[in-house]
Amino acid sequence: MKKFLLILIAVTFYAQADLKISLEEELETLMPKVIEWRHDIHQYPELGNREFRTSNKIKVHLESLGIEVESGIAYTGLVGMIKGGKPGPTIALRADMDALPVEEKTGLPFASKVRTTYLGNDVGVMHACGHDAHVAILMGVAEFLAKNKEELKGNVMLIFQPAEEGPPEDEGGGAKMMLQEGIFERYKPEVIFGLHVTNIPNGVLSVKSGPAMAAASAYRITVKGVQAHGSTPWSGIDPIMATAQLIESLNTVVSRRINIINNPAVLSVGLVQAGTRNNIIPEESMIMGTIRTFDPVLRKEIYDEIEQIAAGVAVGTGTEIKVEFDVGGFYPVTFNNPELVSKMTDSLKQASPGKFYESNTPVTGAEDFSYFSQEIPGLYFWLGINKPGAEASANFGDKTEVAGNHSPYFYVDDSALDEGVKALTYLVLDYPEKF
Ligand SMILES: [Zn+2]
Ligand SMILES: [Zn+2]
Repeated sequence: MKKFLLILIAVTFYAQADLKISLEEELETLMPKVIEWRHDIHQYPELGNREFRTSNKIKVHLESLGIEVESGIAYTGLVGMIKGGKPGPTIALRADMDALPVEEKTGLPFASKVRTTYLGNDVGVMHACGHDAHVAILMGVAEFLAKNKEELKGNVMLIFQPAEEGPPEDEGGGAKMMLQEGIFERYKPEVIFGLHVTNIPNGVLSVKSGPAMAAASAYRITVKGVQAHGSTPWSGIDPIMATAQLIESLNTVVSRRINIINNPAVLSVGLVQAGTRNNIIPEESMIMGTIRTFDPVLRKEIYDEIEQIAAGVAVGTGTEIKVEFDVGGFYPVTFNNPELVSKMTDSLKQASPGKFYESNTPVTGAEDFSYFSQEIPGLYFWLGINKPGAEASANFGDKTEVAGNHSPYFYVDDSALDEGVKALTYLVLDYPEKF
């Protein structure tokens, strides 16, 4: 009996190893498809909650593989379910689908020429965060796993999520909305994995245990004055002057007013809007920005400081100032389950031999993957997509050469995508052996 059990364990172990070997063989035909999907999605990017074409492309692909698909979740989201031939847990894999209001400057043959109106402005649309790569990678993983589902232990829940970058303000969306619409209750995943491409060396996989990415809150400050002719400013109240003071003072919150020794924080202004022409002092001015923190107490302090500064500037300038936080929602800290990280890093090491490292540094970027990993253990890792040999980080040398996410020069090297396909597939194959 004991011997039989041992043989059984050995057989199942080899079955997983076999699948890894067949993936290696299949990559030769799979990767050209993944690359083609990515180029296509890259060329036709769509903003959050408007990912109709992308979503449909994924649906057609999954259904062609015989995968059951539920569509129209949180506007354009999809869930595909691959039912494995052997008993085991349900493992969720997540890719986000949305692009950004950025005008692409990469000069690539498949660069986006798409334009749209965003917050009242005519803007370009670009996959400047690399979500095109996330979608294409997961479509590739889906193809391999669906074709080998008889060998698979448990089920794989494929989550294609809209609006990671934030939905239009009055709509709601993203991971939070998919959860509100009950996807975890319906499909009951036990664990979730996801990846993000970024400007680190080609093919590198990296993970940070514990708090990995910051909490993010958008704020908006509206300044109301009294409109006047530009030639007679004394006859009005100038909201632009008040806004200039505000921006200067906001920059002292992190640098001068709070203690960031143990907990990093970032406060940025990203949008300044006022006026219509040179000789009118407008009635209103508005700024928006983002606050990144890892600690809820510190976050509250920052909110209080901003309120205080705004009240002070209002008194000093005679304007009316309104402050809003968490505009368009709030992103919690992205937390990587430490046990999951310690047990699954071998899979990542195997997926990209010699190129894996465990990071100790959290990043101030934010992710709404955090909503998923608040519900069940999650592991979110980085995939390096720099051109081979482009080792410098964005802080050195030519910033456009290894441009960071959200840059109009953000570039994903196709040769790094196979590490992404392998990493997610290995995590799926190895998880049932370890938990
Ligand atoms: Zn992004
Ligand atoms: Zn992103």
